[in-house]
Amino acid sequence: MTKKTVAIIGGGASGLFAASKLSSDKFDVTIYEKNKTLGRKFLVAGDGGFNLTHSENIEEMISRYTPISFLKKSLQEFDNSFYSEWLAKIGISTFVGSSKRIFPKEGIKPIQVLNAIKSELHENNVKFKFEETWIGWELDGSLNFLSDLSIKPDIVIFSLGGSSWKKTGSDGSWCSLFKQKGIEVKPFRASNCAYEVNWSSDFIRACEGEPLKNIAVRNEDKVVKGELVVTKFGLEGNAIYALSPEIRREINVSNRAIVYLDLKPNLSDQQVLEKWKNNKEKNKTDFLKFGLKLSKVQVKMLKTLLSKSDFLNDDILLEKVKNLPVDLLNASPIDEAISTVGGIATTEVSGSFELNDYPDHYCIGEMLNWDAPTGGYLLQGCFSMGMKVAQVLNE
Ligand SMILES: Cc1cc2nc3c(=O)[nH]c(=O)nc-3n(C[C@H](O)[C@H](O)[C@H](O)COP(=O)(O)OP(=O)(O)OC[C@H]3O[C@@H](n4cnc5c(N)ncnc54)[C@H](O)[C@@H]3O)c2cc1C
Repeated sequence: MTKKTVAIIGGGASGLFAASKLSSDKFDVTIYEKNKTLGRKFLVAGDGGFNLTHSENIEEMISRYTPISFLKKSLQEFDNSFYSEWLAKIGISTFVGSSKRIFPKEGIKPIQVLNAIKSELHENNVKFKFEETWIGWELDGSLNFLSDLSIKPDIVIFSLGGSSWKKTGSDGSWCSLFKQKGIEVKPFRASNCAYEVNWSSDFIRACEGEPLKNIAVRNEDKVVKGELVVTKFGLEGNAIYALSPEIRREINVSNRAIVYLDLKPNLSDQQVLEKWKNNKEKNKTDFLKFGLKLSKVQVKMLKTLLSKSDFLNDDILLEKVKNLPVDLLNASPIDEAISTVGGIATTEVSGSFELNDYPDHYCIGEMLNWDAPTGGYLLQGCFSMGMKVAQVLNE
């Protein structure tokens, strides 16, 4: 049986996952990557806390993705347990952190995870072509590259990434090529990013870089517990990243978004009130510090965001401890975002990510218009999509 040729364009996470599972008996697989190396953004992801996936049950996990139905089937079929087992099989042990996120076992560096994936690809006879930038199609459907290379594979899997951290290669410059083909491409926007707050210079001088731990952030009725960090630009951290779709929508409509911080999510309004009533020390700042055990930065934040008269008003102050409005003016510049939304519209592909109007052409990973918070959900999404495409092709 002659093997079909598969070209995977883009050697990032999703392309590598797909390549690892495509049957080498049926396919002759080549990855075309514009960089000199594979997985540059994967390594960047590994630089901080390297969340490979998350350990929560799959139904809860699915609810984190927007649009919720788009990845549902792939996530169910190739879920976090499947992914963890796959990692173990390629020699990468993992552990579940206190945040329920899944990390490589202590001592395993990101480059070792990438190398384990590469070994898997070598075992699977996948070929690599580096410094090959795809620049479009010929009329007969051949793929053209900047180097003058032209190929006409039987199957094409695009895994070109989103549009942040351009230095890793994911620059979204391919959008116009799909648009020219009549494929709907949504503009890229920052997700999982910092948001601008108009802090006073005094507050920044005192609090820049300070964390706000064990808080909750609310936008309308969505509440996320977690951590934030005060930056010169505004606020960043997992508690706000997870609200990105809601914040983005509000900024789009009103040029600003309001989130509400709960500085004491483990106490009810009533418990805060009781503490105040039982508090002998009626100095407000001392009560916040010692009665409620708020950190220095939390107290300073109340002082900077409330007017003096509101701070001195018992009822208002107590209410704001649990519900402190913060005005967000803008998302961070797109290149600084951990991920992007936008790219190929989800309506342009089938459940197995094949382009509706271009049979045997698939799109996977961040180049599609879906969103998920940090915490392992992005790589999990890329994994599930890569596995799904391979499964459908292997059938
Ligand atoms: C700072 C940071 C931290 C992160 N941390 C985490 C985390 O802890 N957990 C998590 O789940 N996710 C994390 N992510 C997100 C995760 O890394 C990405 O979602 C994931 O890498 C996307 O994979 P992809 O295959 O879609 O695209 P990419 O990994 O971006 O790969 C796309 C590839 O396509 C290549 N390419 C682009 N255009 C062309 C072209 N025209 N021709 C040829 N090749 C091309 C690029 O060079 C690139 O190698 C993080 C991201 C960042 C930036």
